[in-house]
Amino acid sequence: MREQLLDVAIIGGGPAGLNAALMLGRARKNVVVIDEGRPRNAVTRETHGFLTRDGVSPSEFRRIAQEEISAYPSVSIVADTAVSITGTDGQFLITTAQGETFACKKLLFAVGMKDQPLDVPGLAEVYGKSAFVCPYCDGWELRDKPLVIISKGAGVMHFAPLLSGWTNRFTICTNGPDELTEAQREELRQHRVPVLNTPIRSIDSIDGMVQQVVLEDGTTIPCEGIFFSPELVTGSDLPQSIGCHITEAGMVVVDDFGKTNIPGVYSAGDAASRQYQAIAAAAKGAFTAAAINNELNLEAWRRNG
Ligand SMILES: Cc1cc2nc3c(=O)[nH]c(=O)nc-3n(C[C@H](O)[C@H](O)[C@H](O)COP(=O)(O)OP(=O)(O)OC[C@H]3O[C@@H](n4cnc5c(N)ncnc54)[C@H](O)[C@@H]3O)c2cc1C
Repeated sequence: MREQLLDVAIIGGGPAGLNAALMLGRARKNVVVIDEGRPRNAVTRETHGFLTRDGVSPSEFRRIAQEEISAYPSVSIVADTAVSITGTDGQFLITTAQGETFACKKLLFAVGMKDQPLDVPGLAEVYGKSAFVCPYCDGWELRDKPLVIISKGAGVMHFAPLLSGWTNRFTICTNGPDELTEAQREELRQHRVPVLNTPIRSIDSIDGMVQQVVLEDGTTIPCEGIFFSPELVTGSDLPQSIGCHITEAGMVVVDDFGKTNIPGVYSAGDAASRQYQAIAAAAKGAFTAAAINNELNLEAWRRNG
Protein backbone atom coordinates (compact mmCIF):
# COMPACT_ATOMS: atom_id res chain seq x y z
CA MET A 1 0.00 0.00 0.00
CA ARG A 2 1.17 3.51 -0.80
CA GLU A 3 1.77 5.24 2.55
CA GLN A 4 0.32 8.65 1.81
CA LEU A 5 -3.33 9.55 2.49
CA LEU A 6 -4.12 11.36 -0.76
CA ASP A 7 -6.57 14.21 -0.96
CA VAL A 8 -8.37 12.84 -4.00
CA ALA A 9 -8.39 9.70 -6.12
CA ILE A 10 -9.84 10.16 -9.59
CA ILE A 11 -10.96 6.99 -11.30
CA GLY A 12 -10.92 7.54 -15.06
CA GLY A 13 -8.51 9.66 -17.09
CA GLY A 14 -10.63 10.98 -19.97
CA PRO A 15 -11.44 14.69 -20.47
CA ALA A 16 -13.47 14.79 -17.22
CA GLY A 17 -10.91 13.10 -14.98
CA LEU A 18 -7.92 14.89 -16.50
CA ASN A 19 -9.46 18.35 -16.28
CA ALA A 20 -10.36 17.61 -12.68
CA ALA A 21 -6.75 16.56 -12.05
CA LEU A 22 -5.48 19.79 -13.61
CA MET A 23 -7.68 21.92 -11.36
CA LEU A 24 -6.82 19.95 -8.23
CA GLY A 25 -3.10 20.04 -9.06
CA ARG A 26 -3.33 23.81 -9.40
CA ALA A 27 -5.11 23.86 -6.02
CA ARG A 28 -2.09 22.05 -4.51
CA LYS A 29 -3.96 18.85 -3.71
CA ASN A 30 -2.33 15.41 -3.70
CA VAL A 31 -4.10 13.45 -6.37
CA VAL A 32 -3.90 10.12 -8.16
CA VAL A 33 -5.64 9.49 -11.47
CA ILE A 34 -6.18 5.77 -12.01
CA ASP A 35 -6.96 5.12 -15.65
CA GLU A 36 -7.18 1.88 -17.59
CA GLY A 37 -7.22 3.79 -20.91
CA ARG A 38 -10.38 2.41 -22.50
CA PRO A 39 -12.46 5.50 -23.33
CA ARG A 40 -15.65 5.15 -25.36
CA ASN A 41 -14.24 7.25 -28.18
CA ALA A 42 -11.13 5.05 -28.62
CA VAL A 43 -12.74 3.75 -31.84
CA THR A 44 -12.57 7.20 -33.45
CA ARG A 45 -9.74 8.83 -35.37
CA GLU A 46 -10.66 12.43 -34.58
CA THR A 47 -12.42 14.42 -31.86
CA HIS A 48 -14.35 17.44 -33.11
CA GLY A 49 -15.94 20.52 -31.59
CA PHE A 50 -13.42 21.08 -28.78
CA LEU A 51 -12.06 24.59 -29.25
CA THR A 52 -8.26 24.57 -29.88
CA ARG A 53 -8.38 20.75 -30.36
CA ASP A 54 -10.80 20.34 -33.30
CA GLY A 55 -9.81 17.22 -35.25
CA VAL A 56 -7.21 15.91 -32.80
CA SER A 57 -7.17 12.14 -32.15
CA PRO A 58 -8.44 10.96 -28.74
CA SER A 59 -4.99 9.58 -27.86
CA GLU A 60 -3.26 12.85 -28.81
CA PHE A 61 -5.82 14.76 -26.73
CA ARG A 62 -4.89 12.67 -23.70
CA ARG A 63 -1.17 12.99 -24.40
CA ILE A 64 -1.38 16.79 -24.45
CA ALA A 65 -3.54 16.79 -21.31
CA GLN A 66 -1.12 14.54 -19.44
CA GLU A 67 1.83 16.69 -20.52
CA GLU A 68 0.11 19.81 -19.16
CA ILE A 69 -0.75 18.05 -15.89
CA SER A 70 2.86 16.92 -15.45
CA ALA A 71 3.67 20.56 -14.53
CA TYR A 72 1.86 19.93 -11.22
CA PRO A 73 3.98 17.52 -9.14
CA SER A 74 1.26 16.65 -6.63
CA VAL A 75 -0.68 14.78 -9.35
CA SER A 76 0.27 11.30 -10.50
CA ILE A 77 -1.35 9.29 -13.26
CA VAL A 78 -1.35 5.53 -12.93
CA ALA A 79 -2.19 3.11 -15.76
CA ASP A 80 -4.29 0.53 -13.93
CA THR A 81 -7.87 -0.56 -13.26
CA ALA A 82 -9.57 0.24 -9.95
CA VAL A 83 -11.32 -2.98 -8.93
CA SER A 84 -12.67 -2.38 -5.44
CA ILE A 85 -13.31 0.41 -2.96
CA THR A 86 -13.89 0.31 0.79
CA GLY A 87 -14.07 2.96 3.51
CA THR A 88 -15.96 6.19 4.02
CA ASP A 89 -15.56 9.94 3.59
CA GLY A 90 -12.07 10.95 4.73
CA GLN A 91 -10.54 7.49 4.28
CA PHE A 92 -11.38 5.49 1.18
CA LEU A 93 -9.21 2.56 0.12
CA ILE A 94 -8.95 1.67 -3.56
CA THR A 95 -7.48 -1.59 -4.78
CA THR A 96 -6.33 -1.99 -8.37
CA ALA A 97 -6.02 -4.92 -10.76
CA GLN A 98 -2.23 -4.80 -10.40
CA GLY A 99 -2.54 -5.16 -6.62
CA GLU A 100 -1.82 -1.56 -5.62
CA THR A 101 -3.85 0.21 -2.94
CA PHE A 102 -4.43 3.93 -2.66
CA ALA A 103 -5.91 5.70 0.38
CA CYS A 104 -7.72 8.99 -0.22
CA LYS A 105 -10.05 11.46 1.48
CA LYS A 106 -12.34 12.09 -1.50
CA LEU A 107 -13.25 10.06 -4.58
CA LEU A 108 -14.17 11.22 -8.06
CA PHE A 109 -15.67 8.79 -10.54
CA ALA A 110 -14.90 9.99 -14.08
CA VAL A 111 -15.41 6.52 -15.55
CA GLY A 112 -17.37 7.52 -18.67
CA MET A 113 -19.93 5.27 -20.34
CA LYS A 114 -19.50 1.96 -22.19
CA ASP A 115 -21.28 0.71 -25.30
CA GLN A 116 -23.14 -2.55 -25.03
CA PRO A 117 -22.07 -5.02 -27.76
CA LEU A 118 -23.32 -3.92 -31.19
CA ASP A 119 -25.82 -6.46 -32.53
CA VAL A 120 -25.85 -5.46 -36.23
CA PRO A 121 -23.49 -7.57 -38.41
CA GLY A 122 -20.64 -5.41 -39.69
CA LEU A 123 -21.39 -2.38 -37.47
CA ALA A 124 -18.42 -2.91 -35.14
CA GLU A 125 -16.06 -2.74 -38.17
CA VAL A 126 -17.27 0.73 -39.17
CA TYR A 127 -17.96 2.21 -35.71
CA GLY A 128 -15.95 5.39 -35.20
CA LYS A 129 -14.65 5.38 -38.80
CA SER A 130 -17.82 5.88 -40.82
CA ALA A 131 -20.57 5.01 -38.30
CA PHE A 132 -21.15 7.57 -35.57
CA VAL A 133 -23.46 8.47 -32.73
CA CYS A 134 -23.52 12.28 -32.71
CA PRO A 135 -23.98 14.63 -35.70
CA TYR A 136 -22.34 17.49 -33.77
CA CYS A 137 -19.20 15.36 -33.47
CA ASP A 138 -19.11 13.89 -36.97
CA GLY A 139 -21.88 15.42 -39.12
CA TRP A 140 -19.63 17.98 -40.82
CA GLU A 141 -17.40 15.30 -42.38
CA LEU A 142 -20.53 13.58 -43.79
CA ARG A 143 -22.31 16.71 -45.04
CA ASP A 144 -24.38 16.21 -48.21
CA LYS A 145 -23.45 12.51 -48.30
CA PRO A 146 -25.89 9.60 -48.56
CA LEU A 147 -26.37 8.19 -45.04
CA VAL A 148 -28.28 5.46 -43.23
CA ILE A 149 -29.84 5.96 -39.80
CA ILE A 150 -30.18 2.69 -37.88
CA SER A 151 -32.87 3.15 -35.26
CA LYS A 152 -36.36 1.89 -34.41
CA GLY A 153 -38.29 4.36 -32.30
CA ALA A 154 -37.45 7.57 -30.43
CA GLY A 155 -33.99 7.67 -32.05
CA VAL A 156 -35.55 7.95 -35.53
CA MET A 157 -37.45 11.12 -34.70
CA HIS A 158 -34.36 12.50 -32.94
CA PHE A 159 -31.95 11.82 -35.81
CA ALA A 160 -34.15 12.60 -38.84
CA PRO A 161 -34.84 16.31 -38.18
CA LEU A 162 -31.38 16.81 -36.66
CA LEU A 163 -29.41 15.21 -39.51
CA SER A 164 -31.41 17.14 -42.10
CA GLY A 165 -29.19 20.09 -41.14
CA TRP A 166 -26.18 18.25 -42.63
CA THR A 167 -27.70 16.23 -45.50
CA ASN A 168 -31.09 15.50 -47.02
CA ARG A 169 -29.92 12.18 -48.42
CA PHE A 170 -30.68 9.61 -45.73
CA THR A 171 -32.57 6.35 -45.37
CA ILE A 172 -33.87 4.92 -42.11
CA CYS A 173 -33.32 1.22 -41.47
CA THR A 174 -35.29 0.04 -38.46
CA ASN A 175 -33.72 -3.47 -38.57
CA GLY A 176 -37.06 -5.14 -37.87
CA PRO A 177 -40.51 -3.76 -37.04
CA ASP A 178 -40.34 -0.06 -36.22
CA GLU A 179 -41.64 1.46 -33.00
CA LEU A 180 -43.06 4.58 -34.65
CA THR A 181 -46.54 5.96 -34.29
CA GLU A 182 -48.69 6.42 -37.40
CA ALA A 183 -48.24 10.20 -37.03
CA GLN A 184 -44.46 9.80 -37.03
CA ARG A 185 -44.56 7.56 -40.13
CA GLU A 186 -46.68 10.20 -41.87
CA GLU A 187 -44.24 12.95 -40.85
CA LEU A 188 -41.35 10.98 -42.38
CA ARG A 189 -43.39 10.32 -45.57
CA GLN A 190 -44.06 14.04 -45.90
CA HIS A 191 -40.33 14.69 -45.71
CA ARG A 192 -39.76 11.90 -48.29
CA VAL A 193 -37.53 9.93 -45.90
CA PRO A 194 -37.50 6.22 -46.84
CA VAL A 195 -38.15 3.91 -43.85
CA LEU A 196 -37.17 0.26 -44.40
CA ASN A 197 -38.24 -2.33 -41.82
CA THR A 198 -36.53 -5.44 -43.19
CA PRO A 199 -33.79 -6.76 -40.85
CA ILE A 200 -30.20 -5.89 -41.78
CA ARG A 201 -28.18 -8.82 -43.15
CA SER A 202 -24.82 -7.03 -43.26
CA ILE A 203 -22.96 -3.76 -43.42
CA ASP A 204 -20.35 -3.98 -46.17
CA SER A 205 -17.24 -1.87 -45.72
CA ILE A 206 -13.64 -1.40 -46.84
CA ASP A 207 -11.10 -0.38 -44.19
CA GLY A 208 -13.88 0.80 -41.89
CA MET A 209 -15.59 2.89 -44.57
CA VAL A 210 -19.15 1.73 -45.15
CA GLN A 211 -20.08 0.99 -48.76
CA GLN A 212 -23.63 -0.31 -48.39
CA VAL A 213 -26.18 -1.70 -45.99
CA VAL A 214 -27.68 -5.00 -47.16
CA LEU A 215 -31.12 -6.12 -45.95
CA GLU A 216 -32.37 -9.71 -45.52
CA ASP A 217 -34.54 -9.40 -48.66
CA GLY A 218 -31.46 -8.50 -50.76
CA THR A 219 -32.13 -4.75 -50.92
CA THR A 220 -28.87 -2.81 -50.92
CA ILE A 221 -28.59 0.78 -49.72
CA PRO A 222 -25.35 2.41 -50.90
CA CYS A 223 -24.17 4.96 -48.33
CA GLU A 224 -21.07 6.72 -47.03
CA GLY A 225 -21.99 6.98 -43.38
CA ILE A 226 -24.24 5.67 -40.63
CA PHE A 227 -25.69 7.22 -37.49
CA PHE A 228 -27.13 5.07 -34.72
CA SER A 229 -27.77 5.07 -30.95
CA PRO A 230 -25.91 2.34 -29.06
CA GLU A 231 -27.12 1.06 -25.70
CA LEU A 232 -24.95 2.46 -22.92
CA VAL A 233 -24.01 1.40 -19.41
CA THR A 234 -21.89 3.14 -16.74
CA GLY A 235 -18.18 2.79 -17.52
CA SER A 236 -17.57 0.91 -14.25
CA ASP A 237 -19.62 -0.94 -11.63
CA LEU A 238 -17.67 0.74 -8.81
CA PRO A 239 -20.05 3.68 -8.19
CA GLN A 240 -22.91 1.22 -7.74
CA SER A 241 -20.76 -1.10 -5.61
CA ILE A 242 -20.35 1.60 -2.96
CA GLY A 243 -24.00 2.60 -3.01
CA CYS A 244 -24.15 5.52 -5.46
CA HIS A 245 -27.57 6.00 -6.97
CA ILE A 246 -27.67 5.21 -10.70
CA THR A 247 -30.49 6.09 -13.14
CA GLU A 248 -32.09 3.49 -15.42
CA ALA A 249 -30.00 4.95 -18.25
CA GLY A 250 -26.81 4.10 -16.31
CA MET A 251 -25.98 7.63 -15.17
CA VAL A 252 -24.55 8.32 -11.70
CA VAL A 253 -26.96 10.69 -9.92
CA VAL A 254 -25.21 13.91 -8.85
CA ASP A 255 -26.19 17.40 -7.73
CA ASP A 256 -25.08 20.61 -9.46
CA PHE A 257 -21.63 20.28 -7.84
CA GLY A 258 -21.06 16.67 -8.93
CA LYS A 259 -21.82 15.27 -5.45
CA THR A 260 -23.35 11.78 -5.29
CA ASN A 261 -25.56 10.52 -2.46
CA ILE A 262 -22.47 9.03 -0.74
CA PRO A 263 -20.52 11.59 1.38
CA GLY A 264 -17.10 12.37 -0.10
CA VAL A 265 -17.91 10.74 -3.45
CA TYR A 266 -18.31 12.75 -6.65
CA SER A 267 -18.84 11.95 -10.32
CA ALA A 268 -18.32 13.96 -13.52
CA GLY A 269 -18.28 13.61 -17.30
CA ASP A 270 -20.29 11.16 -19.39
CA ALA A 271 -20.82 8.94 -16.32
CA ALA A 272 -22.86 11.67 -14.62
CA SER A 273 -24.45 13.52 -17.52
CA ARG A 274 -26.30 12.90 -20.76
CA GLN A 275 -24.29 15.54 -22.62
CA TYR A 276 -21.88 13.20 -24.35
CA GLN A 277 -19.33 15.76 -25.51
CA ALA A 278 -15.66 15.95 -24.59
CA ILE A 279 -15.82 19.67 -23.85
CA ALA A 280 -18.87 19.20 -21.59
CA ALA A 281 -17.07 16.36 -19.77
CA ALA A 282 -13.96 18.49 -19.30
CA ALA A 283 -16.05 21.42 -18.02
CA LYS A 284 -17.88 19.21 -15.52
CA GLY A 285 -14.56 17.73 -14.42
CA ALA A 286 -13.23 21.22 -13.73
CA PHE A 287 -16.32 22.37 -11.80
CA THR A 288 -16.52 19.18 -9.78
CA ALA A 289 -12.82 19.48 -8.89
CA ALA A 290 -13.54 22.97 -7.56
CA ALA A 291 -16.37 21.59 -5.41
CA ILE A 292 -14.10 18.85 -4.03
CA ASN A 293 -11.36 21.37 -3.33
CA ASN A 294 -13.81 23.68 -1.52
CA GLU A 295 -14.94 20.80 0.67
CA LEU A 296 -11.36 19.78 1.49
CA ASN A 297 -10.30 23.35 2.30
CA LEU A 298 -13.35 23.96 4.47
CA GLU A 299 -12.75 20.73 6.41
CA ALA A 300 -9.11 21.69 7.01
CA TRP A 301 -10.10 25.26 7.98
CA ARG A 302 -12.55 23.97 10.58
CA ARG A 303 -10.14 21.35 11.94
CA ASN A 304 -7.41 23.92 12.39
CA GLY A 305 -9.61 26.70 13.77
C1 LIG B 1 -17.73 7.21 -31.62
C2 LIG B 1 -17.64 8.42 -30.74
C3 LIG B 1 -17.20 9.63 -31.25
C4 LIG B 1 -17.15 10.75 -30.46
N1 LIG B 1 -16.73 11.91 -31.00
C5 LIG B 1 -16.70 13.03 -30.25
C6 LIG B 1 -16.29 14.25 -30.82
O1 LIG B 1 -15.94 14.33 -32.00
N2 LIG B 1 -16.33 15.36 -30.02
C7 LIG B 1 -16.74 15.30 -28.71
O2 LIG B 1 -16.75 16.33 -28.05
N3 LIG B 1 -17.11 14.13 -28.15
C8 LIG B 1 -17.10 13.00 -28.89
N4 LIG B 1 -17.50 11.82 -28.33
C9 LIG B 1 -17.90 11.82 -26.91
C10 LIG B 1 -16.65 11.86 -26.00
O3 LIG B 1 -15.81 10.78 -26.33
C11 LIG B 1 -17.09 11.74 -24.55
O4 LIG B 1 -18.08 12.72 -24.25
C12 LIG B 1 -15.89 11.95 -23.61
O5 LIG B 1 -14.84 11.06 -23.91
C13 LIG B 1 -16.34 11.75 -22.16
O6 LIG B 1 -15.24 11.96 -21.32
P1 LIG B 1 -15.16 11.23 -19.90
O7 LIG B 1 -13.90 11.70 -19.30
O8 LIG B 1 -16.41 11.43 -19.17
O9 LIG B 1 -15.10 9.67 -20.23
P2 LIG B 1 -14.09 8.82 -21.13
O10 LIG B 1 -13.38 9.68 -22.11
O11 LIG B 1 -14.88 7.68 -21.65
O12 LIG B 1 -13.00 8.31 -20.08
C14 LIG B 1 -13.34 7.41 -19.04
C15 LIG B 1 -12.06 6.68 -18.65
O13 LIG B 1 -12.30 5.98 -17.43
C16 LIG B 1 -11.62 4.74 -17.52
N5 LIG B 1 -12.16 3.80 -16.52
C17 LIG B 1 -13.43 3.33 -16.41
N6 LIG B 1 -13.52 2.50 -15.35
C18 LIG B 1 -12.28 2.47 -14.79
C19 LIG B 1 -11.72 1.77 -13.67
N7 LIG B 1 -12.46 0.96 -12.90
N8 LIG B 1 -10.41 1.95 -13.39
C20 LIG B 1 -9.63 2.77 -14.15
N9 LIG B 1 -10.10 3.44 -15.23
C21 LIG B 1 -11.41 3.29 -15.53
C22 LIG B 1 -11.89 4.30 -18.96
O14 LIG B 1 -11.03 3.26 -19.39
C23 LIG B 1 -11.63 5.63 -19.67
O15 LIG B 1 -10.26 5.79 -19.99
C24 LIG B 1 -17.54 10.67 -29.09
C25 LIG B 1 -17.96 9.44 -28.56
C26 LIG B 1 -18.01 8.33 -29.36
C27 LIG B 1 -18.45 7.03 -28.78
